[in-house]
Amino acid sequence: MQTKIAHIDSLDSPEAQRLIMEAGAMIRAGGLVVFPTETVYGLGGDATNPSAASRIYEAKGRPSDNPLIIHVADPADAEKYAFTCPLYEKLARELMPGPLTVILPVRQTIPQNVTASLPTVAVRCPEHPIARALIRAAGVPIAAPSANLSGSPSPTNGAHVIKDMNGRVDFIIDGGSSEIGLESTIVKIEDDGTLLLLRPGGITVEKLTALGCKVKVANAVTEGMKEGETVLSPGMKYKHYAPKASLILLDGDNEGREAFLKEKLKSSLQEGKKCALLAYSEDCAVYARLFPDARVFDFGSQANEEEQAKLLFARLRETDDFDLDEIYAPLPRQSGMGLALYNRMIRAAAHRILRV
Ligand code: AMP
Ligand code: MG
Repeated sequence: MQTKIAHIDSLDSPEAQRLIMEAGAMIRAGGLVVFPTETVYGLGGDATNPSAASRIYEAKGRPSDNPLIIHVADPADAEKYAFTCPLYEKLARELMPGPLTVILPVRQTIPQNVTASLPTVAVRCPEHPIARALIRAAGVPIAAPSANLSGSPSPTNGAHVIKDMNGRVDFIIDGGSSEIGLESTIVKIEDDGTLLLLRPGGITVEKLTALGCKVKVANAVTEGMKEGETVLSPGMKYKHYAPKASLILLDGDNEGREAFLKEKLKSSLQEGKKCALLAYSEDCAVYARLFPDARVFDFGSQANEEEQAKLLFARLRETDDFDLDEIYAPLPRQSGMGLALYNRMIRAAAHRILRV
């Protein structure tokens, strides 16, 4: 398939407006358009068209039991596709548009293959101006999972989507680097008014709690799925974000990590293994000096979890270019934006965590 690729920096020019109208018309006609959002890039199709949804699963190589998030231009549009409630309205008022997805009971306006036959649908109103303009231009809600091939890290810049999706979709809009870099926070509104956190993201538990919401974090956010456990969000059960090399997370303070690396990393290198470190900016120079044979990837300042979130997926993708055996990285904390990093990194590491 021939994929049209366009770069849009700002919506101000008539050319950008024309491209958005063209992409919107493609969506309306059942086509697939990759577009930037503030979280990660989305692979979009008409959420009311079952054959567009089938094409999305096919383009991603995604199992069809892993449902899609529908994207609306205005939080109030959720009512056309789902049964909303006062708590949804409050979340919409306070946090939308933004990196929050809410699971609500679905209406019949959404085909069954979008929700993988669940009685609920995931709804999000993105903040990115290109995403919102595209949904408006399409005139329909856009079903969009992350625009990566299933199993690889979500794409956070134009080069990532071109690599994964060129030839698989009708149109790619390259809008530069994603502001947040991790996928949206997903919450389910429970019957008793609790928010069940299914996936941590840019909207933190602390932020939801500060709004007066009662939040319960689903077990699968911080742990592996246990045998026999019911899957609340089908995406939880799939291996995710995994780099080709074995990622190993080090649970300990800065001194503990350094002491461990001086022993274990050195012995791996002596065995002839190709090793890398995903390191805080502050540690990069020291590590480069201590371990000249290891490759060091800077993934942001230790105190700046937003920066780490923004860089994580790009760094994981870069590691794949070097034919590595082992990658060592610090284990994030489980609060604030750290929880979203923790959740993505334990999956990327297939739960290989060493106490150091
Ligand atoms: P992605 O679109 O790639 O960010 O993945 C969407 C995530 O949302 C997956 O983990 C899905 O399992 C989850 N999801 C979508 N719809 C629902 C739903 N109705 N109930 C629970 N989780 C959902
Ligand atoms: Mg995804």
